[in-house]
Amino acid sequence: MTNEEILEWYEKACAFHTKRAPGLAIGVAMVGACRERLGSVKDKVNAVGESTSCLCDIIQLMTGCTLGNRYLRTYDELGRFAFTLFDRADGRGVRASIDLGKISAAETPELHKFFLRTRSAAVKAGGEARLKSGEQVVKEFLQIRNKIIVLQDVQIEKFGKGEKLPAAVCKTCHESFLYSGTEKECATCRGDLKYYRPA
Ligand SMILES: [Zn+2]
Repeated sequence: MTNEEILEWYEKACAFHTKRAPGLAIGVAMVGACRERLGSVKDKVNAVGESTSCLCDIIQLMTGCTLGNRYLRTYDELGRFAFTLFDRADGRGVRASIDLGKISAAETPELHKFFLRTRSAAVKAGGEARLKSGEQVVKEFLQIRNKIIVLQDVQIEKFGKGEKLPAAVCKTCHESFLYSGTEKECATCRGDLKYYRPA
C-alpha cells in the first residue's frame, strides 16, 4: 500500500471507529501488509485479534472478517497490538506485530511515546493536544512503517468452520438461546450470567 492509500483508509477507519486515533492508521498499514503477504487463499480469510482494540475495527473494515460472521475472534487475555490473518481451509496464516526496538525515540519521538504510552499529560487529557499528537504519530509512523511492521508466517492451531450451536427455547423466559448440551434454561435464567437487572 502507498502512504496515500493508507491515509484514505485511515479516514474511512476514523468514521467507522467514530473517533480519530493514530492506532487506526497503524492498523491500516499492518492489515494491508499482512493481507498482501498472505496472498490468495483456498477458502475464506479469517482473523484472530490479540486484543479488542482499534485493530479489530480495521480488520472488520478492510477484510470483512467480523464478529457477526464469526470470521474474527479475539484473545483479549493476550493484550498485544497484533493479529493474524489466515486461510480457513488449512490454517496457513501471517501474524502482524510491531517491532518496538526499531522505533527511535530521537527520530520519531511522538510515535515512540505513543507505543510506550508516555505521551504528555496534556495529550492524555484529550482535546486539541491529543488530536495534534495523533496526527504527528501518524506522520512519523508513515516514515518508518516498513521498518517496524513485523510479518511472520504461522500455522493456526485451530481452524475451519466453527461449530454452530443448536437453538432451544428457554422454559422460563421463553426466549430462544444457543445451547451446548441439555440445559433447559438460558444462562440468565439459570443465574450463571446476569449482566442486567430490571429497572
Ligand atoms: Zn431464560
